[in-house]
Amino acid sequence: MTPIRAAVIGWPISHSRSPVIHSYWLHEYAISGSYERLAVPPERIREFLRSFERTGLKGANVTIPHKQVALSCCDSLDEAAEAIGAVNTLVFEDGRLSGSNTDGLGFLGSLDQNAPGWDAAGGAAVVLGAGGAARAIVWALKARGLNPIHVVNRTLSRAQDLAARFGAQAHGLDALPALLGEAAVLVNTTSQGMNGQSSMDIDLGLVRATCLVTDIVYVPLETEFLAAARARGLRTVDGLGMLLHQAVPGFELWFGVRPEVTGDLRATVLRDMGLAELAQ
Ligand code: NAP
Repeated sequence: MTPIRAAVIGWPISHSRSPVIHSYWLHEYAISGSYERLAVPPERIREFLRSFERTGLKGANVTIPHKQVALSCCDSLDEAAEAIGAVNTLVFEDGRLSGSNTDGLGFLGSLDQNAPGWDAAGGAAVVLGAGGAARAIVWALKARGLNPIHVVNRTLSRAQDLAARFGAQAHGLDALPALLGEAAVLVNTTSQGMNGQSSMDIDLGLVRATCLVTDIVYVPLETEFLAAARARGLRTVDGLGMLLHQAVPGFELWFGVRPEVTGDLRATVLRDMGLAELAQ
């Protein structure tokens, strides 16, 4: 049997950790297949996706900046991709390209694994940011019944657009102090806190002791935001789990085995990130 090939498509693509994750699972489950990095520039992406058959790939992950274009090139979409308005996972079968979005499921998988029972009591969610990733997070929180969902963003109009899409509530940053005490879950989806950028100035003293605090930024692994939450004794979950869990559905669709997110996989990715000291 010809080995199955999958890939991650983006521009640039050298930073992607997806090959490490999928290669780990291919080895772990003794599957003869491969997972490649493919750099496809924006001016070539439509043609690439429309002639997907020629690539010989069974499917692919799609990353920045191609997630919206991928949505428009698919023959069918799953419910999450449709709602979120972006595709991060493609499967090619019987001449048709199907698109799904697994970012929201990845976020939920990570919280379920790292903070079991986090959604049992429901309550309000406060989401910082209204960019591409925030859409998947709001979709996921809504799917789990968090209510209300407050979207707080520097640019109010973006928060309003996102909130209208999902029946959430939109706010500017000035509203944040009044909302923090209500949050059962507080999520940072802004790029603030990524390497080289300062964290947002948030008074975590206003947050309830039972609030779960999570950041989807994973470089650095512990952002200033998460470190402050941990110092205050709050339950925290970092962003690496989301990256690992969002890869699960794609691997299963292409290679036919539902893979597990284990401590050993996490350690392998941490080593690849140059964080061997955190990999135990
Ligand atoms: P994006 O579409 O560019 O959105 C960026 C968001 O950050 C916007 O809400 C933006 O606000 C806000 N922001 C940027 N600079 C800010 C500042 N100085 N002060 C306040 N807000 C600021 O990015 P994205 O695709 O959503 O990604 C966001 C982050 O999530 C990235 O760090 C990415 O690496 C991470 N991510 C992680 C995973 C994972 O698997 N863990 C998956 C996807 C993304 P405005 O609207 O006002 O500009």
